[in-house]
Amino acid sequence: MTNHRRLLIGCVADDFTGATDVAGIFAKSGMKTTVLIDVPEGGLSIDADVVVIALKTRTAPPSEAVRQSLAALRWLRDRGSERIYFKYCSTFDSTANGNIGPVIDAMLEELDSGFTIACPAFPANGRTIYKGNLFVGDVPLNESGMKQHPLTPMTDSNLVRVLSPQTRHKVTACYRDTVSAGVGEVRAWADKTRADGFGVAIVDAIADEDLEVVAQAFADTPLLTGASGLALGLATVLFKDRPTSQSKPEFASTHGSRAVVSGSCSVATNGQVAAMLRGHEGFKVDVASLAAGEDVVSAALGWAADRLGRKPILFYATANPEEVKANQSSFGIGKAGEMVESALARIAGSLVDLGVSELIVAGGETSGAVVKHLGINQLDIGNEIAPGVPWVSAPLRSGQLWLALKSGNFGGREFFVDAWDKIR
Ligand code: ADP
Repeated sequence: MTNHRRLLIGCVADDFTGATDVAGIFAKSGMKTTVLIDVPEGGLSIDADVVVIALKTRTAPPSEAVRQSLAALRWLRDRGSERIYFKYCSTFDSTANGNIGPVIDAMLEELDSGFTIACPAFPANGRTIYKGNLFVGDVPLNESGMKQHPLTPMTDSNLVRVLSPQTRHKVTACYRDTVSAGVGEVRAWADKTRADGFGVAIVDAIADEDLEVVAQAFADTPLLTGASGLALGLATVLFKDRPTSQSKPEFASTHGSRAVVSGSCSVATNGQVAAMLRGHEGFKVDVASLAAGEDVVSAALGWAADRLGRKPILFYATANPEEVKANQSSFGIGKAGEMVESALARIAGSLVDLGVSELIVAGGETSGAVVKHLGINQLDIGNEIAPGVPWVSAPLRSGQLWLALKSGNFGGREFFVDAWDKIR
């Protein structure tokens, strides 16, 4: 293992779309940024300012999420990273058991630290925090589409209440009045809060300027946690005077085929699927057929055979909340999710073998399944398509693969139709 430069930030992301999202932010700030899929085994030559380790731990059993997250943290610290950033979703996707709380607890202990902040605000995508409550656009989290998420339904917008049952630490909230009073006020507030025995603070932020104040106030805290908004604040604070060292991966025109594979059931993705189907062909992956043992993957590939080309085609399990609920009650929540992820991953793998070299994957868990199935272990960051979604590139034996890993709620309605123009 050779390191050409010291890591300025080591980031652990709990899903793959989140990893490319946050890596896109650091890359845009001019830092040389690489995404590694899982903790690397064996020697690896890396030359980066920021390394993001992408894990698929959001819905793993908490003990497994902790084990993998600590392995990632140790790997990053061994490469000299003094700052650790734990990246989770801007809608704070988690369950009563975790995994945000358990991972924070384990990381704090490993870093011999007793305090961190949790600030998932991402104003560019409409995620803001006020008085400890997370908003998605104009509505509280629990009134957004996230209340019906297939795996991590979010039914409370108050993040102190959401996080408290997940962590050993006492949780409190730092309100906007303190944040808008400036860095000194926030630091004084944090000193008092620590002295009062609190271990995690949810911090309000409704605009990028708030996140810069928060990042500056806590820049020297060994662990920071949040979504991409705080990462942007941190990049602004830490990197504004540094020369750019990021170079975009070369666009070698792939001339290959294009496809979209969608396993996200978010409101945004349902809209994007409907928009794409207006002018493009799509194959619906039916959960009942998968459960009945039908060879849905072969059927999908047979359907694709004479349709593959530069005009993108769509494979989707994306469904409305009623259909998702019906599948979950027939087959179980975990089982339904796994069947879909596995089928979409196998479809994506075969599509690449058949010459697809530009691929959009929608859904965090879905992206994790696809990227793992493709055996990719490193991603370079390319152009931004929409806030939170860059094109990324991976070298495969068959040549260069361009991927866009789209988190469920991100992207405009025409994302699946327009994203291709942004590769260059
Ligand atoms: P998002 O980024 O929107 O959260 P994910 O891919 O992380 O999307 O999660 C969506 C989950 O829902 C996945 O586990 C996926 O396999 C599952 N899923 C997709 N389609 C269906 C369906 N029709 N019925 C039940 N579960 C589904």
